[in-house]
Amino acid sequence: MTLMSPDSVTPTRVNLLNFDLDGLADFCEHLGEKRFRAVQLFRWIHQRGDPGACQFDQMSDLAKSLRVKLQAVATVSPLPVVSQHISTDGTIKWLFDVGDANAIETVFIPELGRGTLCVSSQAGCAMGCRFCATGHQGFSRNLSTGEIIAQLWFAEGFLRQHSQSHGHSDDRSDRVVTNVVLMGMGEPLQNYDALLPALRVMTCDHGYGLSRRRVTVSTSGIVPMMDRLAQDCPVALAVSLHAPNDVLRDQLVPLNLKYSLHDLLSACLRYLAHAPRDFITFAYCLLDGVNDGDEHARQLIQLMQTVRTHSRAGVGCKFNLIPFNPFPDSGLRPSSPERTQSFARILNAAGITTTVRKTRGGDIDAACGQLAGDIRDRTRVQQRMERLHRPRFLHQESAT
Ligand code: SF4
Repeated sequence: MTLMSPDSVTPTRVNLLNFDLDGLADFCEHLGEKRFRAVQLFRWIHQRGDPGACQFDQMSDLAKSLRVKLQAVATVSPLPVVSQHISTDGTIKWLFDVGDANAIETVFIPELGRGTLCVSSQAGCAMGCRFCATGHQGFSRNLSTGEIIAQLWFAEGFLRQHSQSHGHSDDRSDRVVTNVVLMGMGEPLQNYDALLPALRVMTCDHGYGLSRRRVTVSTSGIVPMMDRLAQDCPVALAVSLHAPNDVLRDQLVPLNLKYSLHDLLSACLRYLAHAPRDFITFAYCLLDGVNDGDEHARQLIQLMQTVRTHSRAGVGCKFNLIPFNPFPDSGLRPSSPERTQSFARILNAAGITTTVRKTRGGDIDAACGQLAGDIRDRTRVQQRMERLHRPRFLHQESAT
Protein backbone atom coordinates (compact mmCIF):
# COMPACT_ATOMS: atom_id res chain seq x y z
CA MET A 1 0.00 0.00 0.00
CA THR A 2 1.30 3.40 -0.89
CA LEU A 3 1.31 6.09 1.74
CA MET A 4 0.12 8.67 -0.74
CA SER A 5 -3.27 10.30 -0.82
CA PRO A 6 -4.60 13.16 -2.93
CA ASP A 7 -5.76 15.04 0.12
CA SER A 8 -3.08 14.14 2.59
CA VAL A 9 -1.72 16.99 4.63
CA THR A 10 1.78 15.96 3.59
CA PRO A 11 2.62 13.61 0.75
CA THR A 12 3.44 10.78 3.15
CA ARG A 13 0.48 11.06 5.51
CA VAL A 14 -2.66 9.19 4.58
CA ASN A 15 -6.03 10.86 5.14
CA LEU A 16 -8.04 8.28 7.09
CA LEU A 17 -11.32 9.90 5.98
CA ASN A 18 -10.68 8.19 2.63
CA PHE A 19 -11.25 4.71 4.08
CA ASP A 20 -14.32 2.64 4.69
CA LEU A 21 -13.93 0.08 7.48
CA ASP A 22 -12.39 -2.55 5.20
CA GLY A 23 -9.95 -0.03 3.78
CA LEU A 24 -8.97 1.03 7.28
CA ALA A 25 -8.46 -2.60 8.30
CA ASP A 26 -6.13 -3.03 5.30
CA PHE A 27 -4.29 0.08 6.41
CA CYS A 28 -3.92 -1.23 9.98
CA GLU A 29 -2.61 -4.52 8.60
CA HIS A 30 -0.13 -2.59 6.50
CA LEU A 31 1.09 -0.96 9.72
CA GLY A 32 1.60 -4.40 11.25
CA GLU A 33 -1.51 -4.15 13.44
CA LYS A 34 -4.44 -6.51 13.86
CA ARG A 35 -7.37 -5.73 11.56
CA PHE A 36 -9.81 -5.33 14.46
CA ARG A 37 -7.93 -2.22 15.58
CA ALA A 38 -9.64 -0.54 12.64
CA VAL A 39 -12.99 -0.70 14.45
CA GLN A 40 -11.65 1.30 17.41
CA LEU A 41 -9.97 3.78 15.14
CA PHE A 42 -13.04 4.12 12.90
CA ARG A 43 -15.22 4.87 15.92
CA TRP A 44 -12.83 7.52 17.18
CA ILE A 45 -12.88 9.22 13.81
CA HIS A 46 -16.57 9.06 12.96
CA GLN A 47 -18.53 8.65 16.18
CA ARG A 48 -17.11 11.22 18.53
CA GLY A 49 -18.56 14.28 16.84
CA ASP A 50 -15.52 16.11 18.12
CA PRO A 51 -12.67 17.06 15.79
CA GLY A 52 -10.35 17.12 18.82
CA ALA A 53 -10.97 13.39 19.29
CA CYS A 54 -9.25 12.80 15.97
CA GLN A 55 -5.87 13.63 17.41
CA PHE A 56 -4.21 10.28 17.64
CA ASP A 57 -2.65 10.94 21.06
CA GLN A 58 -6.19 11.41 22.47
CA MET A 59 -7.31 7.92 21.37
CA SER A 60 -6.86 6.45 24.82
CA ASP A 61 -7.95 2.86 24.12
CA LEU A 62 -5.43 2.42 21.30
CA ALA A 63 -2.01 1.01 22.15
CA LYS A 64 0.61 3.73 22.55
CA SER A 65 2.73 2.10 19.82
CA LEU A 66 -0.15 2.36 17.31
CA ARG A 67 -0.79 5.98 18.22
CA VAL A 68 2.85 6.79 17.56
CA LYS A 69 2.74 5.03 14.18
CA LEU A 70 -0.45 6.85 13.22
CA GLN A 71 1.04 10.19 14.09
CA ALA A 72 3.88 9.51 11.69
CA VAL A 73 1.91 8.25 8.69
CA ALA A 74 -1.74 9.26 8.99
CA THR A 75 -3.99 12.24 9.42
CA VAL A 76 -7.68 13.07 9.62
CA SER A 77 -7.83 15.93 7.22
CA PRO A 78 -10.79 18.35 7.27
CA LEU A 79 -11.70 20.63 4.37
CA PRO A 80 -10.97 24.32 4.92
CA VAL A 81 -14.19 26.29 5.41
CA VAL A 82 -14.44 29.26 3.04
CA SER A 83 -17.70 30.57 4.45
CA GLN A 84 -20.64 29.65 6.62
CA HIS A 85 -24.11 31.16 6.27
CA ILE A 86 -26.72 30.47 8.93
CA SER A 87 -30.35 31.23 8.09
CA THR A 88 -32.90 32.42 10.59
CA ASP A 89 -34.75 29.11 10.03
CA GLY A 90 -31.63 27.14 11.09
CA THR A 91 -30.49 26.11 7.61
CA ILE A 92 -26.70 26.27 7.34
CA LYS A 93 -24.75 26.50 4.10
CA TRP A 94 -21.02 25.85 4.12
CA LEU A 95 -18.61 26.50 1.32
CA PHE A 96 -15.49 24.31 1.49
CA ASP A 97 -12.22 24.89 -0.33
CA VAL A 98 -11.12 21.84 -2.34
CA GLY A 99 -8.10 23.48 -3.93
CA ASP A 100 -7.23 24.88 -7.37
CA ALA A 101 -9.83 27.64 -7.05
CA ASN A 102 -12.62 25.10 -6.53
CA ALA A 103 -15.19 25.26 -3.78
CA ILE A 104 -18.06 22.91 -2.96
CA GLU A 105 -21.30 23.48 -1.09
CA THR A 106 -22.83 21.53 1.79
CA VAL A 107 -26.19 22.39 3.32
CA PHE A 108 -27.74 21.32 6.63
CA ILE A 109 -31.53 21.50 6.82
CA PRO A 110 -33.01 21.02 10.31
CA GLU A 111 -36.61 19.83 10.57
CA LEU A 112 -38.76 18.54 13.38
CA GLY A 113 -37.21 15.23 14.46
CA ARG A 114 -34.57 15.11 11.79
CA GLY A 115 -31.60 16.88 10.27
CA THR A 116 -30.72 16.43 6.62
CA LEU A 117 -27.29 17.09 5.20
CA CYS A 118 -27.03 17.76 1.47
CA VAL A 119 -23.56 16.70 0.34
CA SER A 120 -21.57 17.39 -2.85
CA SER A 121 -19.84 14.62 -4.80
CA GLN A 122 -17.92 16.59 -7.45
CA ALA A 123 -16.44 20.06 -7.86
CA GLY A 124 -18.69 21.27 -10.65
CA CYS A 125 -20.62 18.87 -12.87
CA ALA A 126 -20.29 17.62 -16.42
CA MET A 127 -23.95 16.77 -16.98
CA GLY A 128 -24.97 20.24 -18.13
CA CYS A 129 -28.61 20.25 -17.01
CA ARG A 130 -30.13 23.44 -18.38
CA PHE A 131 -31.67 24.72 -15.14
CA CYS A 132 -28.69 24.05 -12.88
CA ALA A 133 -26.16 26.66 -11.78
CA THR A 134 -23.55 23.96 -11.11
CA GLY A 135 -24.04 22.40 -14.54
CA HIS A 136 -23.76 25.86 -16.07
CA GLN A 137 -20.22 26.23 -14.69
CA GLY A 138 -18.92 22.91 -15.99
CA PHE A 139 -16.86 20.18 -14.41
CA SER A 140 -13.64 20.60 -12.43
CA ARG A 141 -12.95 17.26 -10.80
CA ASN A 142 -14.26 14.35 -8.79
CA LEU A 143 -14.10 14.56 -5.01
CA SER A 144 -12.24 11.83 -3.15
CA THR A 145 -14.04 9.64 -0.62
CA GLY A 146 -12.28 11.69 2.07
CA GLU A 147 -13.66 14.94 0.65
CA ILE A 148 -17.20 13.54 0.50
CA ILE A 149 -16.99 12.21 4.06
CA ALA A 150 -15.25 15.35 5.35
CA GLN A 151 -18.50 17.27 4.72
CA LEU A 152 -20.47 14.93 6.99
CA TRP A 153 -17.64 14.66 9.51
CA PHE A 154 -17.40 18.44 9.81
CA ALA A 155 -21.17 19.07 9.91
CA GLU A 156 -21.78 16.42 12.56
CA GLY A 157 -18.95 17.77 14.72
CA PHE A 158 -19.98 21.39 14.29
CA LEU A 159 -23.66 20.73 14.97
CA ARG A 160 -23.03 18.58 18.03
CA GLN A 161 -20.75 21.14 19.57
CA HIS A 162 -23.25 23.87 18.71
CA SER A 163 -26.21 22.02 20.24
CA GLN A 164 -24.18 21.10 23.34
CA SER A 165 -23.07 24.67 23.87
CA HIS A 166 -26.76 25.66 23.66
CA GLY A 167 -27.62 23.01 26.24
CA HIS A 168 -29.78 20.95 23.86
CA SER A 169 -28.02 17.65 24.30
CA ASP A 170 -24.95 16.15 25.77
CA ASP A 171 -25.70 12.63 24.63
CA ARG A 172 -22.81 11.66 22.40
CA SER A 173 -24.80 8.85 20.80
CA ASP A 174 -27.36 11.37 19.56
CA ARG A 175 -26.63 12.05 15.93
CA VAL A 176 -27.56 15.50 14.69
CA VAL A 177 -27.39 14.55 11.03
CA THR A 178 -30.07 11.88 10.68
CA ASN A 179 -30.30 11.85 6.88
CA VAL A 180 -27.80 12.41 4.09
CA VAL A 181 -28.77 13.29 0.53
CA LEU A 182 -26.18 13.27 -2.25
CA MET A 183 -27.91 16.15 -3.98
CA GLY A 184 -25.28 18.86 -3.76
CA MET A 185 -22.87 19.69 -6.53
CA GLY A 186 -22.11 16.92 -8.99
CA GLU A 187 -23.53 13.69 -10.38
CA PRO A 188 -22.69 11.12 -7.66
CA LEU A 189 -22.87 8.12 -9.99
CA GLN A 190 -20.20 9.65 -12.21
CA ASN A 191 -17.85 9.45 -9.24
CA TYR A 192 -18.76 5.91 -8.29
CA ASP A 193 -15.37 4.70 -7.08
CA ALA A 194 -15.23 7.44 -4.44
CA LEU A 195 -18.96 7.35 -3.71
CA LEU A 196 -19.21 3.68 -2.80
CA PRO A 197 -16.75 3.71 0.14
CA ALA A 198 -18.35 6.98 1.30
CA LEU A 199 -21.78 5.31 1.37
CA ARG A 200 -20.26 2.45 3.34
CA VAL A 201 -18.84 4.86 5.93
CA MET A 202 -22.25 6.54 6.25
CA THR A 203 -24.17 3.28 6.67
CA CYS A 204 -21.61 1.36 8.75
CA ASP A 205 -22.63 0.76 12.38
CA HIS A 206 -19.13 1.74 13.49
CA GLY A 207 -19.29 4.85 11.31
CA TYR A 208 -22.35 7.09 11.07
CA GLY A 209 -24.80 4.21 11.44
CA LEU A 210 -27.37 5.66 9.05
CA SER A 211 -29.86 3.16 7.67
CA ARG A 212 -29.90 2.76 3.89
CA ARG A 213 -33.33 4.39 3.91
CA ARG A 214 -31.79 7.55 5.33
CA VAL A 215 -29.09 7.94 2.71
CA THR A 216 -30.29 9.08 -0.71
CA VAL A 217 -28.27 9.15 -3.90
CA SER A 218 -29.63 11.48 -6.53
CA THR A 219 -28.87 10.82 -10.18
CA SER A 220 -29.73 12.37 -13.50
CA GLY A 221 -30.01 8.80 -14.80
CA ILE A 222 -26.70 7.03 -15.48
CA VAL A 223 -28.38 3.70 -16.12
CA PRO A 224 -25.44 1.23 -15.82
CA MET A 225 -24.32 2.83 -12.56
CA MET A 226 -27.85 2.64 -11.13
CA ASP A 227 -27.65 -1.11 -11.73
CA ARG A 228 -24.27 -1.28 -10.01
CA LEU A 229 -25.50 0.70 -7.03
CA ALA A 230 -28.47 -1.67 -6.71
CA GLN A 231 -26.00 -4.53 -6.28
CA ASP A 232 -23.29 -2.83 -4.23
CA CYS A 233 -25.11 -0.59 -1.77
CA PRO A 234 -28.80 -0.04 -2.50
CA VAL A 235 -29.57 3.15 -0.63
CA ALA A 236 -32.64 5.29 -1.34
CA LEU A 237 -32.68 6.68 -4.87
CA ALA A 238 -33.82 10.02 -6.25
CA VAL A 239 -33.96 10.56 -9.99
CA SER A 240 -33.80 14.00 -11.60
CA LEU A 241 -36.58 13.71 -14.15
CA HIS A 242 -37.67 17.25 -15.05
CA ALA A 243 -39.59 16.31 -18.19
CA PRO A 244 -42.37 13.88 -19.12
CA ASN A 245 -41.15 13.05 -22.65
CA ASP A 246 -37.86 12.47 -24.46
CA VAL A 247 -38.09 15.53 -26.70
CA LEU A 248 -38.23 17.89 -23.72
CA ARG A 249 -35.87 15.90 -21.53
CA ASP A 250 -33.24 15.82 -24.29
CA GLN A 251 -33.16 19.60 -23.99
CA LEU A 252 -33.24 19.90 -20.21
CA VAL A 253 -31.09 16.93 -19.21
CA PRO A 254 -28.60 16.18 -22.02
CA LEU A 255 -27.87 12.74 -20.54
CA ASN A 256 -31.28 11.76 -21.89
CA LEU A 257 -29.73 11.63 -25.37
CA LYS A 258 -27.74 8.64 -24.11
CA TYR A 259 -30.27 6.99 -21.77
CA SER A 260 -33.84 7.63 -22.85
CA LEU A 261 -36.79 7.78 -20.51
CA HIS A 262 -37.59 4.18 -21.39
CA ASP A 263 -34.06 3.08 -20.41
CA LEU A 264 -34.20 5.19 -17.27
CA LEU A 265 -37.56 3.91 -16.05
CA SER A 266 -36.55 0.31 -16.78
CA ALA A 267 -33.48 0.88 -14.58
CA CYS A 268 -35.75 2.37 -11.90
CA LEU A 269 -37.86 -0.80 -11.95
CA ARG A 270 -34.76 -2.97 -11.57
CA TYR A 271 -33.55 -0.73 -8.73
CA LEU A 272 -36.86 -0.99 -6.90
CA ALA A 273 -36.29 -4.72 -6.49
CA HIS A 274 -33.29 -3.89 -4.24
CA ALA A 275 -34.25 -0.48 -2.85
CA PRO A 276 -34.70 0.00 0.90
CA ARG A 277 -37.95 1.86 0.19
CA ASP A 278 -40.81 0.82 -2.07
CA PHE A 279 -40.58 3.98 -4.12
CA ILE A 280 -38.15 6.15 -6.02
CA THR A 281 -38.31 9.89 -5.59
CA PHE A 282 -38.51 11.83 -8.83
CA ALA A 283 -37.30 15.40 -8.73
CA TYR A 284 -39.00 17.79 -11.12
CA CYS A 285 -37.84 21.36 -11.39
CA LEU A 286 -40.77 23.49 -12.53
CA LEU A 287 -39.88 25.98 -15.25
CA ASP A 288 -42.34 28.60 -16.35
CA GLY A 289 -43.81 27.80 -19.77
CA VAL A 290 -41.34 24.96 -20.35
CA ASN A 291 -42.42 21.83 -18.44
CA ASP A 292 -45.12 23.07 -16.06
CA GLY A 293 -48.33 22.73 -18.07
CA ASP A 294 -51.28 20.55 -17.05
CA GLU A 295 -50.56 18.44 -20.13
CA HIS A 296 -47.04 17.76 -18.84
CA ALA A 297 -48.48 16.57 -15.51
CA ARG A 298 -50.86 14.25 -17.36
CA GLN A 299 -48.00 12.84 -19.45
CA LEU A 300 -46.10 12.15 -16.24
CA ILE A 301 -49.02 10.18 -14.87
CA GLN A 302 -48.98 7.98 -17.98
CA LEU A 303 -45.22 7.61 -17.81
CA MET A 304 -45.33 6.48 -14.19
CA GLN A 305 -48.00 3.85 -14.80
CA THR A 306 -45.50 1.06 -15.46
CA VAL A 307 -43.33 1.94 -12.47
CA ARG A 308 -46.32 1.97 -10.16
CA THR A 309 -47.88 -1.26 -11.36
CA HIS A 310 -44.60 -3.16 -11.21
CA SER A 311 -43.45 -1.98 -7.78
CA ARG A 312 -43.86 -4.36 -4.82
CA ALA A 313 -46.32 -2.14 -2.98
CA GLY A 314 -47.80 -0.45 -6.02
CA VAL A 315 -46.35 2.88 -4.90
CA GLY A 316 -43.27 3.02 -7.08
CA CYS A 317 -42.78 6.75 -7.22
CA LYS A 318 -43.12 9.99 -5.34
CA PHE A 319 -42.66 13.41 -6.83
CA ASN A 320 -40.79 16.31 -5.39
CA LEU A 321 -41.55 19.51 -7.26
CA ILE A 322 -38.65 21.92 -7.00
CA PRO A 323 -39.09 25.65 -7.48
CA PHE A 324 -36.46 26.86 -9.95
CA ASN A 325 -33.86 29.06 -8.31
CA PRO A 326 -32.84 31.59 -10.99
CA PHE A 327 -29.19 32.30 -11.70
CA PRO A 328 -27.61 34.74 -14.16
CA ASP A 329 -27.89 33.87 -17.88
CA SER A 330 -30.14 30.86 -17.32
CA GLY A 331 -32.85 32.33 -19.55
CA LEU A 332 -35.42 30.47 -17.42
CA ARG A 333 -38.06 31.59 -14.95
CA PRO A 334 -39.66 29.79 -11.99
CA SER A 335 -43.28 28.70 -12.29
CA SER A 336 -45.83 30.73 -10.39
CA PRO A 337 -47.14 29.37 -7.08
CA GLU A 338 -50.57 28.88 -8.72
CA ARG A 339 -49.09 26.83 -11.58
CA THR A 340 -47.03 24.81 -9.12
CA GLN A 341 -50.12 24.03 -7.04
CA SER A 342 -52.12 23.07 -10.11
CA PHE A 343 -49.35 20.72 -11.27
CA ALA A 344 -49.13 19.10 -7.83
CA ARG A 345 -52.94 18.76 -7.64
CA ILE A 346 -53.10 16.81 -10.90
CA LEU A 347 -50.42 14.35 -9.79
CA ASN A 348 -51.89 13.93 -6.32
CA ALA A 349 -55.37 13.38 -7.76
CA ALA A 350 -53.92 10.50 -9.79
CA GLY A 351 -52.63 8.92 -6.57
CA ILE A 352 -49.01 10.00 -7.00
CA THR A 353 -47.76 11.44 -3.73
CA THR A 354 -46.39 14.85 -4.67
CA THR A 355 -44.81 17.47 -2.49
CA VAL A 356 -43.52 20.91 -3.31
CA ARG A 357 -40.06 21.48 -1.89
CA LYS A 358 -40.22 24.17 0.74
CA THR A 359 -37.86 27.04 0.27
CA ARG A 360 -35.48 26.87 3.21
CA GLY A 361 -32.87 29.38 4.22
CA GLY A 362 -34.47 32.11 2.12
CA ASP A 363 -32.22 34.76 3.65
CA ILE A 364 -29.03 32.86 2.67
CA ASP A 365 -30.46 31.58 -0.55
CA ALA A 366 -28.56 31.08 -3.77
CA ALA A 367 -29.05 28.48 -6.47
CA CYS A 368 -27.02 25.34 -5.70
CA GLY A 369 -23.56 25.86 -7.13
CA GLN A 370 -23.88 29.62 -7.38
CA LEU A 371 -21.79 30.42 -4.29
CA ALA A 372 -19.08 28.01 -5.38
CA GLY A 373 -19.18 29.47 -8.87
CA ASP A 374 -18.76 32.98 -7.48
CA ILE A 375 -15.70 31.86 -5.51
CA ARG A 376 -14.24 30.16 -8.57
CA ASP A 377 -14.83 33.21 -10.72
CA ARG A 378 -13.32 35.52 -8.11
CA THR A 379 -10.29 33.27 -7.57
CA ARG A 380 -9.75 32.87 -11.29
CA VAL A 381 -10.00 36.61 -11.85
CA GLN A 382 -7.44 37.04 -9.08
CA GLN A 383 -5.17 34.39 -10.64
CA ARG A 384 -5.53 36.01 -14.06
CA MET A 385 -4.61 39.35 -12.57
CA GLU A 386 -1.58 37.82 -10.89
CA ARG A 387 -0.50 36.21 -14.16
CA LEU A 388 -0.97 39.49 -16.01
CA HIS A 389 1.19 41.33 -13.52
CA ARG A 390 3.87 38.68 -13.05
CA PRO A 391 5.81 39.15 -16.35
CA ARG A 392 6.10 42.89 -15.76
CA PHE A 393 7.30 42.25 -12.22
CA LEU A 394 9.84 39.68 -13.42
CA HIS A 395 10.97 42.02 -16.14
CA GLN A 396 11.46 44.77 -13.59
CA GLU A 397 13.38 42.40 -11.34
CA SER A 398 15.72 41.23 -14.08
CA ALA A 399 16.24 44.81 -15.16
CA THR A 400 17.68 45.81 -11.79
S1 SF4 B 1 -28.76 18.94 -11.80
FE1 SF4 B 1 -27.23 17.59 -10.84
S2 SF4 B 1 -26.55 16.31 -12.58
FE2 SF4 B 1 -27.57 18.08 -13.52
S3 SF4 B 1 -25.92 19.57 -13.88
FE3 SF4 B 1 -26.78 20.03 -11.84
S4 SF4 B 1 -25.46 18.95 -10.40
FE4 SF4 B 1 -25.13 18.05 -12.43
